[in-house]
Amino acid sequence: PSFLSDRINAMQESQTIAMAKKARELMAKGIDVINLSFGEPDFETPQYIREAAKVAMDQGFTKYTPVPGYLDLRQAIADKLLRENQLAYKPENIVVSTGAKQALANAVMSLINAGDEVIVFAPYWVSYEEMVRLAEGTTVTLMGALENDYKVTAAELEAAITPRTKLIMYSSPCNPTGSVFSREELAAIAAVVARNPQIHVLADEIYEYINFVGEHVSLAQFAEIKDQVITVNGFSKGYAMTGWRVGYLAARPEIAAACEKMQSQITSGTCSVAQRAALAALQGGRTSADEMVAAYRRRRDLVLAQVQQIPGFKTPTPSGAFYIFPDVSAYFGRRTPAGETIGNAGDLALYLLNEAHVAAVDGAAFGAPNCIRFSTAAADEKLREAFVRIKASLEKLG
Ligand code: PLP
Repeated sequence: PSFLSDRINAMQESQTIAMAKKARELMAKGIDVINLSFGEPDFETPQYIREAAKVAMDQGFTKYTPVPGYLDLRQAIADKLLRENQLAYKPENIVVSTGAKQALANAVMSLINAGDEVIVFAPYWVSYEEMVRLAEGTTVTLMGALENDYKVTAAELEAAITPRTKLIMYSSPCNPTGSVFSREELAAIAAVVARNPQIHVLADEIYEYINFVGEHVSLAQFAEIKDQVITVNGFSKGYAMTGWRVGYLAARPEIAAACEKMQSQITSGTCSVAQRAALAALQGGRTSADEMVAAYRRRRDLVLAQVQQIPGFKTPTPSGAFYIFPDVSAYFGRRTPAGETIGNAGDLALYLLNEAHVAAVDGAAFGAPNCIRFSTAAADEKLREAFVRIKASLEKLG
């Protein structure tokens, strides 16, 4: 018997973090590992945002903050949602949290009872499943077809809904696939949601700005379901602010109030200085994000060209985010020079780490056991070198 709770014993360690740990072990031995396992922009937070944080410290923004975030930040978020997403919200609809991660966790914990079903579009972001488990809900994963860029269709969604379905969760642009739902696809999903007024949807739009096809559509824009949608976004990806820990959700007042209550007992309002920095980020608009997106697009193209030269890697073209997510199942059953059999994507990821010294993540962590996720948020020359090494290592397989 463990002195730890069943809750923590049932929880999986984040696979992305586990892989990063292994990569660091090799690096400590002096090996030149190219780490493509992280979901983190390799850019520094823009200068004007860092300056705002320094000013905030000296102005005395050093105390506890209101639980749902400073009022002027929530107003600036409401203004952003209106300006860029055509969504009308008031500050009381907004809860600022310690990253989008906490916004998602607050919503899941506020909505899910034991036994409630949560439909999670797969491949999904690693933490969704664990959050649902923590809330004692049941995850129903719905895998999109590779031929449809892994996007779940409205018909597939409708077929998965049961009387116990309480919530739907997805990200678009998607981590790990980079897929982006079009307006037509979301309209069809919205129609299904409208026919099921007891269901809520957590629309994770954290990669909104990192979009190579141009149009970001928020599910909440479909007016008939706006009250059923909880929109999650934040500053980590678009403004390269992962360490600052600021994210938010927008929802109808009852849900926002519930999330505020949850947050009040667990963490309180997020960091004062980081909130001032986030306010400055929004006031600066999208210019800095647009510059980073140009780099992400160039790297997507660069990596895609190389991946297409690798026999057996099947990958859709990512429309957003900064990942490439090939299906590598063609390599299952092959043998390494040391005589080990590649049984699954985890074995292949480990082989690539040991042989090519490139760290990536087993797709099983995202509900896609045939795939491996490579981050493309690294310098061009690192990416180029990584896929040269990967190709050479795969050629050694028997
Ligand atoms: N949602 C998705 C799809 C993500 O990939 C991430 C970060 O990796 C998050 C949410 C969490 O973002 P934050 O750093 O704001 O907590």
